[in-house]
Amino acid sequence: MSIRSVLQDNISLPVEKITAFEKFADLLKEKNKQMNLTAITDDDEIAVKHFLDSLSLYNALDIKDNSKIIDIGTGAGFPSIPLLIYNKTLKITMVDSLSKRLRFIDETLGKLDLTAETVHARAEDLGRDSEYRGKYDFAVSRAVAGLNVLVELCVPFVKTGGIFAAMKGPEAENEISATKNALDLLGAEVTEVKSVVLPGELTRNIIVIRKVRETDDRFPRTSKNILKRPL
Ligand code: SAM
Repeated sequence: MSIRSVLQDNISLPVEKITAFEKFADLLKEKNKQMNLTAITDDDEIAVKHFLDSLSLYNALDIKDNSKIIDIGTGAGFPSIPLLIYNKTLKITMVDSLSKRLRFIDETLGKLDLTAETVHARAEDLGRDSEYRGKYDFAVSRAVAGLNVLVELCVPFVKTGGIFAAMKGPEAENEISATKNALDLLGAEVTEVKSVVLPGELTRNIIVIRKVRETDDRFPRTSKNILKRPL
């Protein structure tokens, strides 16, 4: 099936947004010949595992126009670019430690006439920068690290009362039980786990974590300590 037919069968989108998704898929496949952006190259799979999966955040979260969102470890722009194609008003910051992926994103944003900020940094360094710390309505992250590591990378960016949404596979419950201590220390709690079934019976879980108080200045720690001694 084509990108267009998968999207039309599963989500209501105006034609210009479907065209933008097709263009993004073409850019992704073309650039993927030169550099490693994604293991998913088939149109059907791009539509389901990249586009619909990213857009499933809209079902799990109450994302209002102009929300401030930070995407940690965005890679080739997931989930950010689909979120932005769907809603151009979002104020998105995409963070990655690999600059060549961000160059692809900058080119893609220009070609799709979209605006977002891209930042080349490690999340654990940027999370200590006052320009970014505690400034976001939502932090989102997909396929970057285990939840117990990810919370320390992502929660510091969120405003008190805001949400960190971790996009995970079917194994979410085990990860949550291993993360209780980290959440206590960071001032956050799991409010719900939204299960998503994508076409092809693929189960995904969105772990919705609310920040309930300001994160202590001790966090995030250095990458060496985060990996050596997860909270
Ligand atoms: N989120 C994208 C997706 O779902 O397709 C990319 C996933 S890719 C497997 C993980 C990305 O996270 C890579 O691009 C990597 O460079 C980035 N990354 C890993 N650790 C990071 C860190 N501590 N800070 C910023 N980026 C990180």
